[in-house]
Amino acid sequence: MEVKANSPIKFDEWQEPQRILVILAHPDDPEFFMGATIAMWIQQGHKIDYLLLTKGERGLSEEYPNGEELKLVRQREQRSAADVLGVGEVDYFDLPDGFIEPSFENRKRLTAELRKRQPDIVVSSDPQTFFHRFYINHPDHRAAGLLTMEAVFPGAGNAGFYPEQLARGLKTTRICELWMSLTVDPNITLDVSDYWQIRFDALKKHASQIGDPASFEQKWNERRQETAESDGLYYEHFRRVILRV
Ligand SMILES: [Zn+2]
Repeated sequence: MEVKANSPIKFDEWQEPQRILVILAHPDDPEFFMGATIAMWIQQGHKIDYLLLTKGERGLSEEYPNGEELKLVRQREQRSAADVLGVGEVDYFDLPDGFIEPSFENRKRLTAELRKRQPDIVVSSDPQTFFHRFYINHPDHRAAGLLTMEAVFPGAGNAGFYPEQLARGLKTTRICELWMSLTVDPNITLDVSDYWQIRFDALKKHASQIGDPASFEQKWNERRQETAESDGLYYEHFRRVILRV
């Protein structure tokens, strides 16, 4: 099938079940950035785990004024949201929310994690400065994307990086693809209309962050109408980098 660059597709390219690792900054980022795609991939038989770099303790509100308590709430909410979609493990680095550093130390730690887990596909968020033309991208989203990119390439697959990790038994990776969500420069657009509802059901589990569920639902439906293309379908956009076939 000849697909024009970035024309919407129903994605079913992977013949074998893939092990997909989603690396993002905060609890709720996976569902907000790409929840419908996650649901679709799981339904297609792929296995998805999350590695979140913070526990989101700065998402405070009147109802949740304590960061340490909020960490526990958000982990519970994230587990419930992941269960709606069928995600496997949800793990955390517990870096300070709002202050993720794209440091060499964090890159090394993430590289070790990739070498331990050996995913086929890695997904993160584009480390861009702006998105949707009007918004400043959160510094943690930028840092998470940057760290992931740098750990995938040139870190995890290259024996010259962190040889001490290999000496203690870890193996270099053979990651096939890197996908970046939250991008203004997509090269692949997925028609995930069939998964709009399940994504919304997962998002609702993040009760500490979405406020009143009824007004969230109303806002969300308005947003769907705004973002839906003229054909009424719902898309998620990515920058897809194929590293090896
Ligand atoms: Zn976030």
